[in-house]
Amino acid sequence: MELFDVYSLFDVIPTTASGCRIWDDKGTGYLDLYGGHAVISIGHSHPTYIKALTDQVNKIGFYSNSVVNPLQQELSHKLGEVSGYEDYFLFLDNSGAESNENAVKLASFHTGKDRVIAFHRSFHGRTSGAVALTDNPAIVSPFNSHHKVTFCDLGDLAGVEKELSEGDVAAVIIEGIQGCGGIHLPSESFFKGLSELCHKYGAVLILDEVQSGYGRTGMFFAHQWAGIRPDIITMGKGIANGFPCGGILISPAFKAVKGMLGTTFGGNYLAMAAALAVLEVISSEKLVQNAAEVGEYIMKNIPSDPRIKEVRGRGLMIGLDFNVEIASIRKSLLFDKHIFTGVAGKNMIRLLPPLCLSKKEAATFISALKEVLA
Ligand code: PLP
Repeated sequence: MELFDVYSLFDVIPTTASGCRIWDDKGTGYLDLYGGHAVISIGHSHPTYIKALTDQVNKIGFYSNSVVNPLQQELSHKLGEVSGYEDYFLFLDNSGAESNENAVKLASFHTGKDRVIAFHRSFHGRTSGAVALTDNPAIVSPFNSHHKVTFCDLGDLAGVEKELSEGDVAAVIIEGIQGCGGIHLPSESFFKGLSELCHKYGAVLILDEVQSGYGRTGMFFAHQWAGIRPDIITMGKGIANGFPCGGILISPAFKAVKGMLGTTFGGNYLAMAAALAVLEVISSEKLVQNAAEVGEYIMKNIPSDPRIKEVRGRGLMIGLDFNVEIASIRKSLLFDKHIFTGVAGKNMIRLLPPLCLSKKEAATFISALKEVLA
């Protein structure tokens, strides 16, 4: 059997990793500024993380959610403290897409309505329910057309209000920072306005923090820069440093009803051990602060070059927007300088490194980029 060929792959086989570094099967070392789509939050193979997972494997690895799992309670308490959402509830699942689907479902249960407002260029995942929340024709299938989703422009409060005023909207879903769509930051006033409008018309505000959350932007969640408190916050990616895990934070205004949401794997022992280790390391190594500092350093030191139109981002979520296609620049960074980077579209290099990236490692990237551009 062959693999279904839907991903472009670089011919590199990673075999070991530590912190922000990866080594391949030939012994070549790479600096990882992409973290496998932003999933590596505390760094590759962190000793605290490895120990937590190995200790847990030696106790119990998996059991169904029909019995009490104390690790879930421990995680919900710690996450409440670290994120500043102590009064919210936590529901655990397995991925970002699943978190967004659960959030939308919950919003429609809560409001009794079925239309959702999303934003142009957004990305909320690949399952049919999540992909219906994007308008990217390359990834939407005909099956998704049965979902009632309306797309508005990021920043257009009047457009959002026009839709909300029709009275049939269950939820508005927005990314903390648009990631896959090309690192677009909603302004503070847009976030505030959106929050007020959702309140006014009784729609649920869902903040997708799957990519922008968990400390990446220098706040625990990106929307916290705007000082708003959404009704539901969705999480994934860095929550368990690469172990599949997702979850949603739910405001106390929601009433839990048995059977409303469910999961087989969500919140399993191994995912919880991984997620607890992540929170421990984020706090003990002050990684949120580090993301803010090193991110600022990178943004300030990107060389000026006529091909770079704009540098956008916050913390360690950064996009270099070029006015030329970046495929060859990215290849040079990988094969000549041994630095992994990501992309958004054809013109953007996207950086989503582990949150433990040091200034020295960031400086290595800056000088490599200068040389590649020269
Ligand atoms: N939401 C956002 C903002 C994302 O960036 C992604 C993945 O890139 C998802 C949701 C989907 O997450 P997953 O691939 O874990 O389903």
